[in-house]
Amino acid sequence: MKTIDLRSDTVTKPNKEMLDAMMLAPVGDDVFAEDPTVIKLEKMIAEQAEKEAGLFFPSGTQANLASLMSHCERGDEYIVGQTAHTYLWEGGGAAVLGSIQPQPLDFEKDGSLCLEKVGRAIKPIDDHLARTKLLCLENTTNGKVLPLSYLEQVRHFCKEKVLKLHLDGARVFNAAVQLNVELNKISHGFDSISICFSKGLGAPMGSALCGRKEFIQHARRWRKVLGGGMRQAGIMAAACIYALENNVARLKNDHANAQFLNQSLETISEIEVEPGSLHTNMLFIKVPTQYKELHLYLQQKGIKLPAQPNKLGLIRLVTHLDVNKDDISVVIGEIKNFYNRH
Ligand SMILES: *Cc1c(COP(=O)(O)O)cnc(C)c1O
Repeated sequence: MKTIDLRSDTVTKPNKEMLDAMMLAPVGDDVFAEDPTVIKLEKMIAEQAEKEAGLFFPSGTQANLASLMSHCERGDEYIVGQTAHTYLWEGGGAAVLGSIQPQPLDFEKDGSLCLEKVGRAIKPIDDHLARTKLLCLENTTNGKVLPLSYLEQVRHFCKEKVLKLHLDGARVFNAAVQLNVELNKISHGFDSISICFSKGLGAPMGSALCGRKEFIQHARRWRKVLGGGMRQAGIMAAACIYALENNVARLKNDHANAQFLNQSLETISEIEVEPGSLHTNMLFIKVPTQYKELHLYLQQKGIKLPAQPNKLGLIRLVTHLDVNKDDISVVIGEIKNFYNRH
């Protein structure tokens, strides 16, 4: 029985070609900056993001934290979305390990931060107050794509307000594919961008941070402090290079499969699809009754869904590399079977 896991796009496993690329990768000690495969990956991703330099990290959490610590000093502040990964889902790392105070604001429905509200949150220069240094956005956020016109407004806004601008671009390639643009069109106005290879791109691990040369040198030091200096990391970087070369354009299949899932779920009266939630590879549903039973039933059929709804009562479904259209038909068939029997 095949497992169909719709909980996250982090669950993908490397295929034979990716594993072959890892086996054949030339390696060296990357703490000495001597791993040719890591250097190749960092160059590739920096070029695509149109930044001076890139840096390889074991995780997106560490890439974001090193970025915040490189932009901000102790007692500085960053403005961030209330449900943003760098605020909510990273254990408060910026505050805990970086002595950087977050100023969270509610995201608008489309995943943006209202610039008027951001403007009001910037603290005046005053010894009583933290120094507002940085604005942090997320793209995609809950699968939603920030419009390019909004990014342009943000760029001007940050220039005017003298704020640094970081993008948590864990799934930025989903945004690029959905907008049908190259990565640089999105990364353009940002001082720094983090990108995950371990989400929709299907690598087992790894993230990159891109920005100006001096900034990356700074981040390299923080990466070492945070325990992210790795040795023959080229084995992992090779998987990320494979992912960049083979798994970016195909993200459109995941988006199409999410659309197919969305349309099929709309025919099931016991399930409500959250309107407007689907931009890329994530959709959110409500199952007002019997979710526990449905979850268990599907689990027995090898279909994995989140164990419970989030605080808003929504269940997140994610399509990825290891889920194809036929798998989605299987899921829909089993959901229908469950409701016919119960
Ligand atoms: C997954 C993710 C990260 C990084 O997470 P890691 O699991 O540490 O790689 C950062 N931001 C967002 C929005 C994410 O989804």
